[in-house]
Amino acid sequence: MLQQTTVATVKGYFETFLGRWPTVDALAAASLDEVLHAWQGLGYYARARNLHACAGAVVADHDGQFPETESALLDLPGIGPYTAAAVAAIAFGRKTTPVDGNVERVIARLFSVEDPLPGVKPVLKEHAASLTPERRPGDYVQAVMDLGATICTPRSPACSLCPWQHRCTAHHQGRAADLPRRQKKPPKPTRFGTVFWLENSSGEVLLQRRPPKGLLGGLMEFPSNNWRETPWPPDKRLQDAPAAVTWRVLPEVVRHVFTHFSLELTVATARVEQESTKHDSQQIWVAPESLGDHALPTLMKKVTRHVAAHAAADGAK
Ligand code: SF4
Repeated sequence: MLQQTTVATVKGYFETFLGRWPTVDALAAASLDEVLHAWQGLGYYARARNLHACAGAVVADHDGQFPETESALLDLPGIGPYTAAAVAAIAFGRKTTPVDGNVERVIARLFSVEDPLPGVKPVLKEHAASLTPERRPGDYVQAVMDLGATICTPRSPACSLCPWQHRCTAHHQGRAADLPRRQKKPPKPTRFGTVFWLENSSGEVLLQRRPPKGLLGGLMEFPSNNWRETPWPPDKRLQDAPAAVTWRVLPEVVRHVFTHFSLELTVATARVEQESTKHDSQQIWVAPESLGDHALPTLMKKVTRHVAAHAAADGAK
C-alpha cells in the first residue's frame, strides 16, 4: 500500500484491510472485486490485483506460508527485486540488500558516485551489498533506510549527526547535497479520448469491466474510445460509441494524470429507449446512486462528477 502513497493516506485503509482479511488465507478466499473495491481511492490498482494474486499463490503453492528465500519470493506475483530482498532480509534474516531511494542516496554520497540515476542503480546496489553484514542484515538495511529518511535527507543532510560522517566522501568534499545526480525526465505525453455516458430508459448507466491486465485492470469504467496521442477530430470522436444514437458532447474535458501520461477525456452523453445496447458480457447497467458499490477508479469518478455538474447546470436553467 505504501508504494507511491503516504503513511497518512494509507493508515485507515491498512487497518480496514487487515480487519477484513486478517490472514493470507482470508485474502486468498476473497474475490478480486471485493479487494479492488476496498482499494478504491488508493490508486495504482495493480498493487491490489498483485496482492490478491500473491495471497492466492502463497496458499496454493506454499501451504499458506511465505517462502523465505529471495529467489522463491521473486516468483510470487507483484514481488519484484526490491520487495523480495526486503522481505528476505527483514522478515527472515537473509543476507540480501534491498535498495530503495533512501539507500541509494546514502550510498551515492558515501562513495561519491557521480553517474546519474536511474542508470547507476546497479552500481549503487553493488556498493550497498559490499557493506551488508553477515549478522543481522535485516537490521542493517532498516538502519540505512532510516538514515536516509531522517538524517541523510535529499536537500540538507544533517552530517554532524551521522554515524558514517568519518567515512563519507561526499561529506568530506562538501557536496553531499549535490548527490545523487539524476537524469532529466522527458515531459509526460498527453493522450486524448472520449468517454460515453449512456443511460437507459430507467436512468441506469452503462458500465463495463476493463481487461484484467494493464492500466486500471479489472476495474469498472464507462465505455470510451481509444486514448490516442493526438486529439480526436470532432467528426471521428463518436465513432466508437456504444449506441448509434444522438450524442451530446459536454463542454470542457475531464483531466487526469497517470504515472506515464496525462489524459484529457471528452464526455459524451446519450439516452437509449431500449436496453438492447447491452452486447458485451462485461457490460452492466447500474443506477447512478449505486455506482459507489462498484470498483470505479478516480478517473471515472471525475467523469461522474462532470456529468452531474452539467445535469445540475441544465436543471437550473
Ligand atoms: Fe549522508 Fe552526510 Fe552521513 Fe554522508 S555524512 S551519509 S552525506 S548524512
